[in-house]
Amino acid sequence: MSSPADYGDSTRSVHAGLPEAALPGQPFLPGPVFAAPYHLDPVAGPQAGVDGYGRPDNATRRALETAIGELEGGECVTFASGMAAVSAALLTQARPGDAVLLPADGYFLTRSFAQESLPGVTILLAPTAGPYPSFEGVRLVLLETPANPGLDVCDIASLASRAHAAGALLAVDNTTPTPLGQRPLELGADLVVASASKALTGHSDLILGYACTADPELAARLRAWRSGTGGVPGPFEAWLAHRSLGTLDLRLARQSENAAAIADLLAGRPQVSSVRWPGRPGDPSYEIASRQMRRIPGIVTFTLPSKAHVDAFLTASRLIAAATSFGGLHTSADRRAQWGDDAPEGLVRLSCGVEDTRDLVADITAALDAAAVVPGT
Ligand SMILES: *Cc1c(COP(=O)(O)O)cnc(C)c1O
Repeated sequence: MSSPADYGDSTRSVHAGLPEAALPGQPFLPGPVFAAPYHLDPVAGPQAGVDGYGRPDNATRRALETAIGELEGGECVTFASGMAAVSAALLTQARPGDAVLLPADGYFLTRSFAQESLPGVTILLAPTAGPYPSFEGVRLVLLETPANPGLDVCDIASLASRAHAAGALLAVDNTTPTPLGQRPLELGADLVVASASKALTGHSDLILGYACTADPELAARLRAWRSGTGGVPGPFEAWLAHRSLGTLDLRLARQSENAAAIADLLAGRPQVSSVRWPGRPGDPSYEIASRQMRRIPGIVTFTLPSKAHVDAFLTASRLIAAATSFGGLHTSADRRAQWGDDAPEGLVRLSCGVEDTRDLVADITAALDAAAVVPGT
């Protein structure tokens, strides 16, 4: 008999965080518990281990935390959004006088938040692909791999040992790969932070974030921070997220398959440059991603000659939704420069959904043909 730890990804995702006992008449996943206050014993008042108030106590949220914790391999603390988790990690760790190292090419809000909201903290930036500066005097190293949107990958295990040798904590933003794509805690990271609004939940219908760690003290600190600052997810979001986890393996498999086909298609087209997908042989991140990652996410980044080319491409496509975010069921594309990212005007982050590969390939081929008549190269 295999133990749960030996189960495959789909089995683990389907069962993660569900009640142990299969009780007749009960649903597989209990419904959301909606409560601000709960009934107290009128005489004994609040009692340890019994839910009293909704900000610290919610059974639906706890079930989701058990599930994500099982997949990441640590204790999970969920937050109202990915940024609530990222900012909790930064604000609980960095003190005036400390230095924090962030990716120069990662999620732009993490960078701008840190630069604006951590007075007295020195913010160092390094490109995900390196080179990295000395970690001497650094309190927290936050990696994002693959980095969003450029998709460079870094070696978590080797950077974790370098960080630990310098007395720094190593955190990884695991949003893009999800815990089925990469398990940073097993690779030596102290902390995972992530947005669950993207591929983890995958239906483009909720905002949620989490942090995960195998260090109980760090987890307790994050939990206390969350209770104090109040950035808790609502029970309905937590329930929707948990409900979505069961299909994670299936969704990622199709998204990755679609990305492979689309990256090949894009690489063979005139007017398309800088195609990046870490699963494609020849991609600058291919080797390290193949060694480190358990699967490659369904995101492809590429560049068209101008904004006008992207406009024509998105207008002509019948299957690609113009939308930011990524990791959902529906294929979507985002011209990053429109958000003020310092990306080239024609850079597109394409998030492959779970549609049939041949439909996407045909649609994208036709949309590129339509964009090809736009003047300029
Ligand atoms: C989206 C995203 C975040 C922020 O998550 P929200 O849920 O939108 O707050 C953080 N990191 C990365 C890599 C992201 O893509």
